[in-house]
Amino acid sequence: MLQAAIIGYGGMGKWHHDAISTQVKGITVTGIYDVREEANEEARAKGLKVYESAHDLFGDADLDLVIIATPNDSHKDYIIEGLHRGKHVVCEKPVVLKSEDLVEIMEVNETAPGLFTIHQNRRWDKDFQIVKTILEQDTVGKPYFIESRVNGSSVFLHGWRDYKINGGGMLYDWGVHLIDQALQLIPEKVTSVTAHLFNIHSQEVDDNVKVLLTFEGGTSMLLEVATNCFITAPRWHVSGKDGTFVINNWNCDGKIVQLADKSALKWESDIVYTSAGPTRTMAPRPVNTTVEKPLPHILDARGNEYHRWSSADIFYHNLIDAIRGEAALYVQPSEALRVMKVIEAAFASAEQGHGISCSI
Ligand code: NAD
Repeated sequence: MLQAAIIGYGGMGKWHHDAISTQVKGITVTGIYDVREEANEEARAKGLKVYESAHDLFGDADLDLVIIATPNDSHKDYIIEGLHRGKHVVCEKPVVLKSEDLVEIMEVNETAPGLFTIHQNRRWDKDFQIVKTILEQDTVGKPYFIESRVNGSSVFLHGWRDYKINGGGMLYDWGVHLIDQALQLIPEKVTSVTAHLFNIHSQEVDDNVKVLLTFEGGTSMLLEVATNCFITAPRWHVSGKDGTFVINNWNCDGKIVQLADKSALKWESDIVYTSAGPTRTMAPRPVNTTVEKPLPHILDARGNEYHRWSSADIFYHNLIDAIRGEAALYVQPSEALRVMKVIEAAFASAEQGHGISCSI
């Protein structure tokens, strides 16, 4: 049984504790370190050991694994100390704020005995896995434009997320998940990044993010995170050569509309009078030239119906297998480095007011 401790026992720290307790037999969480007394009291009440300092925690020879779930600006030093002290380290996303810091960590990781991975849990979200499945099955042909959106209307960013010094803002928050998913979906180099970063209500950080990625093979992807959107757009809208599909929401309601067959690509059309005015190009397609299908029913990577802890189950069992030397880590630091580089290009694009050519 691996013994784990959590640094930062807030929203996500408690999530890791609950997820491991509920779903992961090979790991037990025994302690925490947090700078907040209420967090320490809560942990003590649950029977966890509360360390006086992170240094004490890293010095505990009984601990195998340290999970870092503190605000974004504090990850780097904790990761490096954990690796130097021989622990396996799981860090929340975004792993750090600058790619050069991750390169430094990766150098330490090369000679350290412990493993190091990043909690990119949204790779195992049901909506994302449906998109992956449809593209892998070539149901709508080659995708040329993919829209991935997370729209909310909370307006204000919570706590440290509202401050630049803590690595706040939505690009470092949901943006990291959407970029990681994009890079998983299209296994090609990113050749350009164009970003618009708004701060509509926040004084310091982006609270509305639009990032357009272009991939080497020609696919473009629009990523959007909004905290001030009052009419939610679909979570996914994917345009392929032979069809379109939409996933409307987190419940994964949606549909696929495919060309009935290749001969249905064209049909004889005369000018028609629509509410858009007289048009051929925008004339409604005859119904028998397309087929409407439901989204595929998919199970999680364990073969179960998706449930609250599916991603934790997959992530932590992979970590256990990797520690035993029986599997490679699903989330490699080199993948997080690509995400960081896209983020840096997005910040540069927003600041300079034009797209950034790249090869990431
Ligand atoms: P939070 O504010 O709820 O919790 C952070 C905790 O860290 C608090 O208890 C705070 O007291 C403590 N803390 C602050 N500075 C510290 C320090 N230097 N050392 C020790 N403890 C410290 O924040 P959160 O929402 O739990 O976010 C924590 C991390 O988890 C962030 O990196 C965030 O991006 C990430 N996160 C990931 C997901 C995901 O889906 N993977 C979801 C939410 C948050």
